[in-house]
Amino acid sequence: MSQHQHKRISILGATGSIGQSTLDLIRRNSINFSVVSLTAYSRVEELAALAIEFGAELAVIGDERLLPDLKAALAGTRTAVAAGEGGLIEAAERDAEIVMAAIVGAAGLRPTMAAVRRGATVALANKECLVCAGDLLMEEVKAHGATLLPVDSEHNAIFQVFDFERSCGVEKIILTASGGPFRGRSFESLSTVTPAEAVAHPNWDMGAKISVDSATMMNKGLEIIEAYHLFPIEKTQIEVLVHPQSVIHSMVEYADGSVLAQLGSPDMRTPIAYSLAWPERMHAPVKRLSLAEIGSLTFEAPDLEVFRCLKLAMDAMMAGGAAPAVLNAANEVAVEAFLANRLRFVDIPAIVSDTLTSCDIKAPQSLSNVFEIDKMARREAAQHLAKRAH
Ligand code: NAD
Ligand code: MG
Repeated sequence: MSQHQHKRISILGATGSIGQSTLDLIRRNSINFSVVSLTAYSRVEELAALAIEFGAELAVIGDERLLPDLKAALAGTRTAVAAGEGGLIEAAERDAEIVMAAIVGAAGLRPTMAAVRRGATVALANKECLVCAGDLLMEEVKAHGATLLPVDSEHNAIFQVFDFERSCGVEKIILTASGGPFRGRSFESLSTVTPAEAVAHPNWDMGAKISVDSATMMNKGLEIIEAYHLFPIEKTQIEVLVHPQSVIHSMVEYADGSVLAQLGSPDMRTPIAYSLAWPERMHAPVKRLSLAEIGSLTFEAPDLEVFRCLKLAMDAMMAGGAAPAVLNAANEVAVEAFLANRLRFVDIPAIVSDTLTSCDIKAPQSLSNVFEIDKMARREAAQHLAKRAH
């Protein structure tokens, strides 16, 4: 990125793992960026400190009850404050060129949509948005001339090697998966795992929810649905390959048998830097890849008997309609209960499966439909949870 290029950026979910990595890159390249809005859900002190450090124009706290605290923490500064969903939308609507969508879960959908609707460049980490409302979101991207840059490492890898001009030459895309902390385990042996064991990912340092999703491999399931919406391919052209070293971040196979891959150390600052600098490149302070040091890369097929969430997500993608949104909502409810020690790890797929069976709903036609489906699925999931929770 040249020194003269300057971009205005807003970060939704600034206090999270992706938000902090994004701010780390901005801190090191402050000449190229200025911060417009920053948002968080409940960490007022952290949000206020970041707003002061980066001279943000607007700071928004998701939990409305905390607005007085945020006001007090930012009194006398140049930063305006707001709260609640309206505030998150306002943060997305401010005139930043890039919006980093890094809120976790379906809660990020409305703000992300607001950024898309003003034709912004959206660096999309919040994969749940595409899972719940992929068709609607992609329609709006087209209608408003927005640019969607995938931050998720697999999709960012594919974006880098996908020949969009000649997509009919693409035979399939291969999403790699680390397999998480429980790769190689039997389903039965997982009945006693704790939240601390589940969030201890072998390669990546991430937020709690996505770490549990990686342990169940629901994360890869959400990612195949994400890939289906992001790239011009059929559902049957997506494959999952377990690759425990997390060096190859994903691959595209072409009609002539060529396979193109993007490689790198497992550090989210690489795909984030790619999205911030696009279409140029910028420096990222990540460990350079030393294949000689790593020695060997290994691969195996995913075990769908153990990682039932992956199979449920594949089926939901094939079913289409409301199924992916129901799957996502049920998974959010189940993961939250597991993290609160109210549900066993092995019962996460059971809650998702029961909810998919009991929710028979038509495909969403509008964003408010998506939220109705999301609400209904959460209610159903809570009932199934009550039967299994301890
Ligand atoms: P995290 O839990 O570390 O951070 C989430 C952020 O969202 C926080 O700033 C939090 O304040 C905010 N937030 C949470 N609930 C909210 C709500 N109801 N309303 C408004 N804001 C809310 O999560 P993360 O690991 O940074 O992940 C963020 C997104 O990026 C997720 O969708 C995840 O799947 C995706 N992602 C993360 C990684 C990673 O390495 N962490 C990699 C790929 C994709
Ligand atoms: Mg990923």
